[in-house]
Amino acid sequence: KTAVNKAKTMVPGDDKDGMVINDVEEIDMAADWSPDSWSSKPIKQDVVYENEDGLKDAVAKLSKLPPLVTPKEILKLKEHLKDVALGKAFLLQGGDCAELFDYCNPKNIEAKIKLILQMSLVLIWGANRPVVRIARIAGQFAKPRSSATEVVNGVEMPSFRGDNVNGFAATLESRKPDPSRLVAAYFHSAATLNYIRASLSSGLADLHSPLDWGLGHVITPSIKEKYERIVTRVKDAIRFMHTVGIDTDRGVETVEIFTSHEGLALEYEQALTRMLPPPKDPKTLFYESILTPPLTLSDPSPRASERGFYDTSAHFLWIGDRTRQLDGAHVEFFRGIQNPIGIKIGPTMKPDELVDLLNIVNPNKEIGKVTLISRYGAAKIASLLPAHIAAVQASGHVPVWQADPMHGNTKSTSSGVKTRHFEDILSELRQALEIHRAAGSFLGGVHLELTGEAVTECCGGAGGLTEQDLGERYETFCDPRLNEKQALELAFLVAGFYRD
Ligand code: PEP
Ligand code: MN
Repeated sequence: KTAVNKAKTMVPGDDKDGMVINDVEEIDMAADWSPDSWSSKPIKQDVVYENEDGLKDAVAKLSKLPPLVTPKEILKLKEHLKDVALGKAFLLQGGDCAELFDYCNPKNIEAKIKLILQMSLVLIWGANRPVVRIARIAGQFAKPRSSATEVVNGVEMPSFRGDNVNGFAATLESRKPDPSRLVAAYFHSAATLNYIRASLSSGLADLHSPLDWGLGHVITPSIKEKYERIVTRVKDAIRFMHTVGIDTDRGVETVEIFTSHEGLALEYEQALTRMLPPPKDPKTLFYESILTPPLTLSDPSPRASERGFYDTSAHFLWIGDRTRQLDGAHVEFFRGIQNPIGIKIGPTMKPDELVDLLNIVNPNKEIGKVTLISRYGAAKIASLLPAHIAAVQASGHVPVWQADPMHGNTKSTSSGVKTRHFEDILSELRQALEIHRAAGSFLGGVHLELTGEAVTECCGGAGGLTEQDLGERYETFCDPRLNEKQALELAFLVAGFYRD
């Protein structure tokens, strides 16, 4: 109380008296964890900054900036994911492999959001359950790479590690890690998120007009026709509700879209990790009390189970397949945050190891806290997924099971272009659905790399893209993404599985 009152009368930054009260006695959490405890653990995919002072400055700056998302929103997503884990909702997650600062423009953001809305409409209709939407956006900048360096035009240089680390331009200068990019990442995330929030609150997702979401590039008549059939039914349902006197002005005019990215750059994640309730440092409290609203207005102190550290850079963060070592820095960071988290699991994951990992990041076995994102490849899933499901079932953990049918199916064409075949993506997804069903489990969601633009990066699909067509609009800066047509086609496949 005293701290709150003092904070209100203090000018932020005015701590001339050196008065810093850092009282954390109310916080009940792992005593051996702190937002920077990861830094004493072995780390994979580390970025080495020559400019150490620049890195310190960037982290100090980020630590003072407002949270991008609030604990209240994070907890809401956690509730939704609990429903997904229990089979009461479906999770759709998608976006770019590598988001660029350049994608922070209205056209690009709108195209992606509209595609996610279209896909979720198809999935709601098909799976007959609510869809939780998480975009890989507003922060999906950092990329793990299989090789730290690459040779471009005969010159060996550091690989592109994502826009928050270095530049894509193939020069030694641009590939040098620049810590000020971490701050630029924050501002690009903030601008993107602001546009998403503003568009949604202005009716972008209004169910009264799902046709306005536009099927810009969907020229394949069969998909267009199927989509329009669903839209007609939705409109009929809304008209019917209106006729019988149910209020259709509220509840169908917007939706929630949550944000996510791979939590790879731990300096950045650490700087945006905030404690709830805020520490009793008047300076911090001045901001937090305004910008992190109490969970309920009548009860400003969060419930014991809600206290802790929240990574406010996004609602949902995941650990990549290359950084999930049990004793590594990333697992250390992730075990201390309250956010719902994802873990990518690929072919090298052993069933015992998977259970050990769940025990570390989710010792209380909170339902839906962890989303297991499987990405084995169409040829391997049948021999790997059943043992993972069995081990998790026996452990008593109840995660969300999500299929990422993209990352195990990356191939190079004969001319060296990275691509994925739609048939492989479809095959891994269909197998995931069937294997879960046969194991008395269920697939809770899909994780896709997609874009609302009409790119030509993945082969196949109803549009019949061939390897020769890839050059037409091959624009990704990392992995090949589904275009609008291919993404919708996939949504129809999942919808069909549930309806049949
Ligand atoms: C990704 O999702 O872009 C990625 C790098 O995935 P994974 O960690 O599964 O390879
Ligand atoms: Mn990727």
